[in-house]
Amino acid sequence: MSEIYDVIILGAGPAGISAAIYASRARLETLWLEKQFVPGGQIIDTYEVDNYPGMPGMSGMDLGEAMGEHAKKLGIEPVRETVRSIEDQGSVKVVRTKKNEYLAKTIIYACGANHRHLGIPGEEELSGMGVSYCATCDGAFFKDRVTVVVGGGNVAAEDAVFLARLCKKVYVVHRRDQLRAEKVLQEQLFECRNVEMVWNSIPLEIQGESQVTGLKVQNVKTGEEQVLAADGVFIAVGITPNTGLLKELVKMDDGGYIVAGEEGITTAPGIFAAGDLRTKALRQVVTAVSDGANAVTSVQHYLMGR
Ligand code: NAP
Repeated sequence: MSEIYDVIILGAGPAGISAAIYASRARLETLWLEKQFVPGGQIIDTYEVDNYPGMPGMSGMDLGEAMGEHAKKLGIEPVRETVRSIEDQGSVKVVRTKKNEYLAKTIIYACGANHRHLGIPGEEELSGMGVSYCATCDGAFFKDRVTVVVGGGNVAAEDAVFLARLCKKVYVVHRRDQLRAEKVLQEQLFECRNVEMVWNSIPLEIQGESQVTGLKVQNVKTGEEQVLAADGVFIAVGITPNTGLLKELVKMDDGGYIVAGEEGITTAPGIFAAGDLRTKALRQVVTAVSDGANAVTSVQHYLMGR
């Protein structure tokens, strides 16, 4: 008979890494699966994570690496496999990858989230040809050129500040007249002289043949349309949780987030959720690592029959 793990952890972002560290220290029989080669999840796309205590100004890539190294020192590393399906047989959960089938008493699901798309003409066609979802990855291609950032959250503000250091000009297109981003990021953004805010505007179409030439936007107050001539469009309009594998197994809200409190307890006994993909007020690295730790405590309680 196959080994039955105490827990299978899915994902090696901050929540999954934290869960792995706590599971290792709790001496749980653990299998840790991750499809990417680099640990860190979404933070590896972040130029600077400036609000994680003790690590001021650290790059997301370095923070992810440091977290991964911490887990490795405790003797646990992710197995590189992409999970295809999860079956809940009650006391046993079956996790299937392309190559293998794994069994566990519990699952900590920490698969994070992906960039949300706008779904406008030109977005898909020009992806990689001027359309990007990651300023820190692709910004350097736009040195001394003109770019547009779409969105008004933390990522949009961070991306715009990052791009302003490289680009001749950066437009920030936001659908309202106030940003959602933290005040400290707003201050940094408004200090950038080469950033122009395009308020109350929604993107209609990304223009260009083999390369982006501009973004057509519409002012939602006046109805007026204009084309912002640009070489790159960076889309930062939020995230969609990677919860498809649990669709039939646990309760989710309308946005596809798994309904779970800070203990990570879902509607399926033995399946726990951690990180950005659960319902919560604040999605940050610091809350994700807290989720990973809490989920392991919940696993231990579950295994003890509490
Ligand atoms: P977000 O906070 O959800 O902001 C998304 C932005 O895009 C909002 O301003 C929203 O407008 C706008 N938007 C959404 N759909 C749109 C559409 N279809 N067309 C035009 N605009 C649209 O997302 P985020 O900035 O990507 O951040 C994702 C999560 O990561 C957040 O929870 C954030 O706090 C977290 N994060 C944390 C850190 C950190 O800890 N340092 C850094 C970055 C991100 P409205 O404002 O009008 O809704």
